[in-house]
Amino acid sequence: MGRLDGKVLVLSAAAQGIGRAAALMAAKEGAKVIATDVNAEKLKELEGTPGIETRVLDVLNTDAVNAFVASLGKVDIVFNCAGFVADGTILDTDEKTWDFSFDLNVKSMYRMCRAFIPKMIEQGTGGSIINMSSVASSIKGAPSRSVYGATKAAVIGLTKSMAVDFVEHKIRFNCICPGTVDTPSLRERINALPNPEQAMQDFIGRQKLGRLATADEMAYLIVYLGSNESAFVTGQEFVIDGGWSL
Ligand code: NAD
Repeated sequence: MGRLDGKVLVLSAAAQGIGRAAALMAAKEGAKVIATDVNAEKLKELEGTPGIETRVLDVLNTDAVNAFVASLGKVDIVFNCAGFVADGTILDTDEKTWDFSFDLNVKSMYRMCRAFIPKMIEQGTGGSIINMSSVASSIKGAPSRSVYGATKAAVIGLTKSMAVDFVEHKIRFNCICPGTVDTPSLRERINALPNPEQAMQDFIGRQKLGRLATADEMAYLIVYLGSNESAFVTGQEFVIDGGWSL
């Protein structure tokens, strides 16, 4: 028996990294997974995986989000995973970068939640919406993560506010706040730095457990928050950071 048997899970940013790991683990746990991403080529790698259906979706596009949600049957779990790391202090962050970061990291959740909440209310069976935040948010100041930290703090605020507003409909909202997770985009960021080896050691060193997290370690938390095991859990930020914030 799977921990997500009978549930339908929709997620964004499923083509790689944490989203991909969550899609694969949720399918293994019995969910019917609708895996979306803007990168059609990369998303194709999930095609043919038992329990996973893929759909191209750009979460920056409100009309596309609305049309996508309208095309779906029953949905029990939504994992809003898409996000982007802009590097730099506030002095390095131009308005374009600021606006793009808020659009992808926060407004995408506004779009998705505004489309999914009425659907879940109509279904009448509750639901679980999980938003991707970060420990680099209102939890911890991280160097060169000015707008990123601001967006991820906004995700925590949005999550708590929605949790209060829709609790009577048994729709639960939680967010996850990872430390540093070994994903393709993290590797790209490290390789773009002047001394990648030193940068990797620095990223590893800030986790008190002495290593990076794996994407699967995030996926376990997603499965828990999507499953009935977390039926009494709402409005929380789940720090999963190897002790970075201690
Ligand atoms: P990643 O950056 O490796 O991959 C992100 C995926 O998002 C890609 O497949 C990309 O195509 C997709 N994407 C980008 N723009 C999109 C759009 N407009 N619409 C739909 N999909 C889009 O993934 P990751 O490192 O696993 O990060 C995923 C999330 O986790 C992000 O929100 C990130 O901020 C957050 N996070 C990551 C870490 C980490 O260390 N990797 C830590 C904390 C939080």
